[in-house]
Amino acid sequence: MFNLNDFPLPFRETDLVPIMSVETVRLHHDKHLGAYIANLNKLIADTKYADMDLREIIVNSVNDSNAQKIFNNAAQVFNHEFFFNCLGRGNTAIPDIIADAFGGMAEFKEKFKSVANDVFGSGWVWLTYDNDKFEIISTKNADTPIAHGKKPVLTLDLWEHAYYIDYQNRRADFIDAFLESLIDWKFVIDNLNMD
Ligand code: MN
Repeated sequence: MFNLNDFPLPFRETDLVPIMSVETVRLHHDKHLGAYIANLNKLIADTKYADMDLREIIVNSVNDSNAQKIFNNAAQVFNHEFFFNCLGRGNTAIPDIIADAFGGMAEFKEKFKSVANDVFGSGWVWLTYDNDKFEIISTKNADTPIAHGKKPVLTLDLWEHAYYIDYQNRRADFIDAFLESLIDWKFVIDNLNMD
């Protein structure tokens, strides 16, 4: 059984204002993440997935054609915890190791924006780090790099619920605001050093 209390926000609801409103943060964490957790608990009850941790559920269900609802909800729980951990207002300078990998800070941002703006419908943008190489990729719907053996170090949620209250149809402005003001780069750097 998973519990929303085990996925606390790493910041106060007011910390991201005005880039991200309290209403958005509260709905996104309490209601959307809360629903994915409740659905996952119902779906895994009395199945082989019931005793697995979140990562095990994801890697075992991704290719199980009878468990796609389980995969979707488990992946969304992982993706949302990861996304909220990427957000903050205190560490917004891009680390040299990442800027240098893309030829500069501006080049990193342009590449990230390009991939993000190409996402059609619901999905996620990721910075991954494998074999000492950074890559910016997108995934559709609930899909997640950890289901495919890739290590995520940063993500942006591009489902409409992530931005619609604050940015309406101006998704590109949300992407810009995220890159300029919302990333906790300390979390990203910490991820580089984890297995
Ligand atoms: Mn979301």
